[in-house]
Amino acid sequence: MTFLTQDFYFIAAFAIIAAFTLFMVTVYAGRVWCGYACPQTIWTHLYQYVEKWVIGDRNKRIKFDKEPMSAKKAFKRSLIYFIWLVFSVITAATFVSYVAGTDYLYQSWQTIGFIPIPDWPTWVWVSMFIFTFATYANAGYMREQMCVQICPYGRFQSVMFDKDTLVVSYDYERGEPRGARKKAPILNI
Ligand code: SF4
Repeated sequence: MTFLTQDFYFIAAFAIIAAFTLFMVTVYAGRVWCGYACPQTIWTHLYQYVEKWVIGDRNKRIKFDKEPMSAKKAFKRSLIYFIWLVFSVITAATFVSYVAGTDYLYQSWQTIGFIPIPDWPTWVWVSMFIFTFATYANAGYMREQMCVQICPYGRFQSVMFDKDTLVVSYDYERGEPRGARKKAPILNI
């Protein structure tokens, strides 16, 4: 479907419905949006999965970061960056195609020498660059900092909680002090 400028009120209606749905879900079920549906979470997990696939689990990744640079380390790092870049370009192309149209975006190519290059106007190149950079930086590096420092929903969602809201949180009484546990006495009741 093609939406023109005069159809903009659809966006307003969609935004209002989406906002109220989000608030209602948050009141009852806490941070389910953050945990399961927010693109920031999904892309961050996707990029972390790439690291896990190339290097290994968390302990292996910490060890890997401390290792001196070698050909093997450089190869693995380059592979991760390359896959991240591919995901970022796919994400950017998806966003830009909503405006430019998929036919235009994927079929406007020219050949310079033997190299096929997209024949896009400047605004498409600039949009592709901005979305690619934003995706790469957010999911590759910013990650949870986006939630802690920038996301407005992250800042005000606690005001939507009440005593019946489902919340996953750290149990201080159970978790502290950290370290080895003493054997608890067996209670005979
Ligand atoms: S705090 Fe914001 S950016 Fe972070 S997961 Fe929740 S909605 Fe997404």
